[in-house]
Amino acid sequence: MANITNREDVELAVENGADGVGLYRTEALFMYNDTLPTEDELVETLLDTLEPLGQKPCIVRLLDIGGDKTLPYLRLPPEESPFLGRRGIRLLFAYPELLNVQIRAILRLSTSRAIQIMVPMVTIPEDMERVRRLVGAAAQELGIQHLPPLVAMIETPAAALSVADVLKSADALSIGTNDLTQYVMAAGRQNPLASEYFQEMHPAVMRLIRIVCADAGPSLVGVCGELAGRLSAVPDLLSAGVRLLSVAPRMIPLVKDAVRRTPASPGGT
Ligand code: PEP
Ligand code: MG
Repeated sequence: MANITNREDVELAVENGADGVGLYRTEALFMYNDTLPTEDELVETLLDTLEPLGQKPCIVRLLDIGGDKTLPYLRLPPEESPFLGRRGIRLLFAYPELLNVQIRAILRLSTSRAIQIMVPMVTIPEDMERVRRLVGAAAQELGIQHLPPLVAMIETPAAALSVADVLKSADALSIGTNDLTQYVMAAGRQNPLASEYFQEMHPAVMRLIRIVCADAGPSLVGVCGELAGRLSAVPDLLSAGVRLLSVAPRMIPLVKDAVRRTPASPGGT
């Protein structure tokens, strides 16, 4: 599948044989406006962006700001260690209208498209529990019977080591190896002074990925961080049990080729 941010990415993804969108980064929909987009505007943009995808599935990630990203119309309090602070879903819980407008827009889309909702920066199982409750309430308000699947991003060591509990409120998992690596290796992903420690394929990171897959049982585990597009990592990810790789659109043919060249594991899957 493809990681996308706009319609051009989706077109490129389809041209390159994507089986769907595994990560729709929605930050651009919010960061380059002076005001919070309305629910109708969001629905319109999502529909237009995803139109080239046809009925292929798309995993839309809820807004992932905080950390290094802010919004022009939100006054976020300064934080000493923003990557350890209020980012991703933590920030959305603090701004309910910002979260709700996204949930409602995605729910409306889910009546006509194969959409899933992905939650960034999950740390504790309660994060997913709260999101499930909010999605359920919004669906009821909108008269929508079937909730779209909820995908928990596994980006923190705590989430990686609590997968069985996270899955009580999530339908699938997607490992964000960019953040997972920075939190496992204690090396900021944008910090050139620590770059030698930012090792996406370090045995500690790979071991956590294997633990996530083992603890997830039959639930689908994907990878949508940069590691999914590293051809040398593909055999290890597959043998760990990862079954969905989401990468930059132009990497898709290469990654598919790497998957096909990987011999089936003794487990047979
Ligand atoms: C990740 O952290 O691996 C990820 C896919 O999310 P982002 O790079 O947008 O933080
Ligand atoms: Mg991330």
